[in-house]
Amino acid sequence: KNNDIVLEVKDLSVKYGIVPAVDGVTFSVKKGTIATIVGSNGAGKSTIMKALTGLITPHKGSIRFFGEDISGVAPDCLVERGLVLVPEGRRLFKDMTVRENLETGAYLERNKTAIKKYLDEVLERFPALKNRLGARAGSLSGGQQQMVAVGRAMMARPKMLLLDEPTIGLAPAIVDDIAQIILDIAAEGVDVMLVEQNAEMALEIATHAFIIERGQILLDGPAHDLAKSEQVRKAYLGI
Ligand code: ATP
Repeated sequence: KNNDIVLEVKDLSVKYGIVPAVDGVTFSVKKGTIATIVGSNGAGKSTIMKALTGLITPHKGSIRFFGEDISGVAPDCLVERGLVLVPEGRRLFKDMTVRENLETGAYLERNKTAIKKYLDEVLERFPALKNRLGARAGSLSGGQQQMVAVGRAMMARPKMLLLDEPTIGLAPAIVDDIAQIILDIAAEGVDVMLVEQNAEMALEIATHAFIIERGQILLDGPAHDLAKSEQVRKAYLGI
């Protein structure tokens, strides 16, 4: 058992009906890294994230988290073990307040003092949310809604945070803010797996990258090396 490996995925395949969406994907993520899966629309990125967090059942393959097989483990049990997803599209409860949304992230915690402490930490990370706690989540800007989504995930005290397209639809200045937030979270010792169509941002902040096409891993290597590769530059960086 290699204690350095946080996440180990072997020969993962997922089908929707008879259509393979993820086809024999193998990769591992080492402790202390920001890993990114880069790929175009429909490449299979979200499907991998859903399989990792128990939202869909793989057709075959294995997933290990800190050495333990987590295939078939229910989503809430995975949250309890420290694997937490920030879903694509944020999925906030738009008619609930920001505070209520954040607190749902700590639904496994019974201790009110602990929940208050986690909330204070989230507000320290996202000061812009401090005077919006009573606002309807749906009334916030896109960037602030993404902060609520990340904050809600942090309320669950993740060991590993999975982010599915966190910058989609956001203005470039806000993309930079989100990138910095991800770097800060990683620097605090939370392992991060980032799925992005924004390859430029993802390869900039990640340590390790996987390029996925049509459900298969095409390239796997240090993010900065892949950012320099001609193949990646042409296909994903528009250079
Ligand atoms: P996006 O950036 O659009 O989210 P992605 O890389 O995350 O793309 P997936 O959403 O994982 O890609 O989709 C992979 C493939 O599976 C695509 O061909 C998609 O059309 C198909 N697919 C995804 N979800 C379903 C579903 N619920 N039913 C049938 N096919 C699906």
